[in-house]
Order: sequence, then C-alpha cells, then structure tokens
Amino acid sequence: MAETLNSRAGIGMTSARTRGRMVERLREQGIKDAIVLAAMGDVPRHLFVDQALESRAYEDTALPIGFGQTISNPYIVARMAELARHGENGNGRDLGRVLEIGLGCGYQAAVLGKLAREVVSMERIAALVGKTRPRLRQLRINNVKPKHGDGISGAQDFAPFDAIVIAAAFGEVPQALLPQLAEGGRLVMPLGNATQTLCVVERQGDSYSESLLEGVKFVPLLPGVA
Ligand code: SAH
Repeated sequence: MAETLNSRAGIGMTSARTRGRMVERLREQGIKDAIVLAAMGDVPRHLFVDQALESRAYEDTALPIGFGQTISNPYIVARMAELARHGENGNGRDLGRVLEIGLGCGYQAAVLGKLAREVVSMERIAALVGKTRPRLRQLRINNVKPKHGDGISGAQDFAPFDAIVIAAAFGEVPQALLPQLAEGGRLVMPLGNATQTLCVVERQGDSYSESLLEGVKFVPLLPGVA
C-alpha cells in the first residue's frame, strides 16, 4: 500500500491542475464557500478510488468503491460540506467535532477533516473500514476516526457534534441523532428512498428546523453491521 500511494503522486489526469479544474466546475455549479472549495482542491480524490478508476476521479460522477457502494460525486460532497458549515452564503464557520455516517472510501471524511477539528466516521461494512483506515493513515489524515458500527443511533460517546453528515439515504430523519447535535449544529442527509431530497435539520435549543433542498441520489442507509 505504501508504495502504491506514493507512486500515485499525481500526473496528467490526476494532477493538482485537474483538481483545480474540478474546483472551477464546483464554483460554476454554485458552491460558494471558499473554505470548502479550498478543501476540495486539497484532497487527492484519485487516491481514494481503485487505481483502475483514478483517471476518472475528478469527473462529476459517482464511482464504485467495492461492496456495492459508491463514492459520491464531487458536487454533492462539496454541497453537504457547505451546508454543514452554514457556508451557503460564502463564508461558513469552523467546525469542532463532526459525525459522518457512511465512511466508505474515506473521501468525504477527508474533506470534512479539512473543515473540522475532528471527524468521527461510522461504517457498517467491516471490510471497508479495514481498507480505508490504512489509507487515511498513509495520507496522514489523523483527525478522521473510522469506527465500525451501525450509525443509525449515532455515536453518543463522542457527542455533541457541530455537524452530522449522513452519506446514505433514509426514509426519515433518524431521531436518535438529533440530541447529539450541538447548539446551532446541523444534520445534513438525503431523505427518502426511491426519490430523495437533500435535507438539513438545524438545532436551536430544543427545537429543530427542517429544510428540504434539491433532489439527490444515494445508496440506502442499511441497518446492522456487515
Ligand atoms: N462518504 C463515503 C460515501 C460512501 S457510500 C465516501 O466518501 O466514500 C455510503 C456508505 O454508507 C457505504 O459505505 C455504506 O456501507 C455505509 N452505510 C450504510 N448504512 C450504514 C449504517 N447504518 N451505518 C454506517 N454506515 C452505513
């Protein structure tokens, strides 16, 4: 693994310049938060997918990461990060601790790790945790903590969270997660099954306001571990 990643430093279709073009495209697609755009420009997305797919890593598309799962397209990763940061108007706030549900290949967690002090990321598939943990270590991403487990009830031991980002779709907002939000914190998730809508729930004291945004397409949130 060490040799593999080192020898994939990035030329041609995987270079920093290609990443720069992706950032330009994100800006055109409406991402405004400069900190999120900088994070997207920093994280080497091609190192999170299998080598055979790396030339496609910066396309605006979801890609397979094994086990029937996908890495979300760059736009939706940036969009969810912007919403988590309250950054829709251009400048968001720095995040303390963030909970991600659905670690997958670790890409979104790595992006969130640029915006937060710490990211706890839960994944129900043990083999994915086993593949992603050494990758994060090798990239020296030390503030992302992968955890094997069903994320539907959150991670009470690490709460409160300034943001909770769910990378898989569910028919309702998982109620156990709401009290794990910090004051002013936001939960961002794809809500629905066949038809999904990006949903933001914001905590103010003991009340929670829900906004529904654009349509999205995610793999389903599944119960239990594998
Ligand atoms: N953020 C990921 C996207 C992964 S796709 C990335 O950047 O690669 C969604 C992931 O959620 C899958 O890996 C899937 O196994 C995981 N998942 C689905 N249901 C889950 C649950 N209940 N708890 C934790 N992870 C879950």
